[in-house]
Order: sequence, then C-alpha cells, then structure tokens
Amino acid sequence: MKESKSQRLEDRGRFIKRLNIKEPEKRSSWEEYALDIAKTASSRSEDPFVKVGACALDHNNMILGVGYNGLASGKTPSHKSFWEDRDLRRPYMIHAEVNCLSLFKKSEAKLLAVTLLPCSYCALMIAAYGIKNVVYGEDYKRDDGAKEIFNFYDINLIKL
Ligand SMILES: [Zn+2]
Repeated sequence: MKESKSQRLEDRGRFIKRLNIKEPEKRSSWEEYALDIAKTASSRSEDPFVKVGACALDHNNMILGVGYNGLASGKTPSHKSFWEDRDLRRPYMIHAEVNCLSLFKKSEAKLLAVTLLPCSYCALMIAAYGIKNVVYGEDYKRDDGAKEIFNFYDINLIKL
C-alpha cells in the first residue's frame, strides 16, 4: 500500500521527535547556538559553586573561542580548602569571559554569549574588545553594573 504524503510527513515528525533533534525551521538562532556552547564550556569549570561559560562568534558566526571560570592553566591550589572557601579563591579566579577573550584579537568577535551576566570588569573588557552583541543566560545578583556599561557603550544585550 502506498503511503500518502501527509502520512510520510507525520512519520518524519515522529522520527525527529524521537531523535530529539530540531526541525529545520525550528533551528537554533546564532545567539542560542553560542549560549548552548557556553553552557557546555561551563561544565569544565572546577568551581564547585559557580560554573560560568562563554563563547565568542566571529563576523561569519564561526567559533573564535570558548572559556570557563577557573585558575590559570596549569595552576593547582596548594590546599584542598581552596575550593571550599569562596572568599579565599575569588581574587584568583579568572572569569569565563576573560579566558574566552584571551583567545582572539580586538574587533574579531561579533557576539559573546555568557551563561551569567558579565560582572562590571568583564563588561568593560567586552567593550574594549569592540564586541557589540552580548547574550546571557542568568542574571548576576552581586553585580548588575554591566547593564549600564553596555548601554553606555551601545552594546546590545539580550537575555535568553
Ligand atoms: Zn567577570
């Protein structure tokens, strides 16, 4: 028996649903794509409390770099309690944005996606790098100065 076109489309829809992949018309935006990669990067963070990831796309939407919060590469804390004491380790932690920005040059990135709203210091770094679009996942209660900084520097900020 020959299947009708609608039956074939219905089967295809069920197949795609079972595979848990997106239909072509529902594909991720570049912002969602970059934020998803930033989320994956955050899973590499050693920080037991705050895991942040960042991902930068260039002007052709190619990935320029990813980063997550942590100590400089190769540095291991001398005592175990380092990871348990947030205030002790905070001054030494390199933010995800800084690790990501260290991988490319000024004006190369079109978009930076970060899982958490950048702190004021990172917002200024982003402005210095000439990045005009920032997307983020969650608000940062300790410091939301980035919103004003991005507004001042005409940087588009989108919460996804
Ligand atoms: Zn920061």
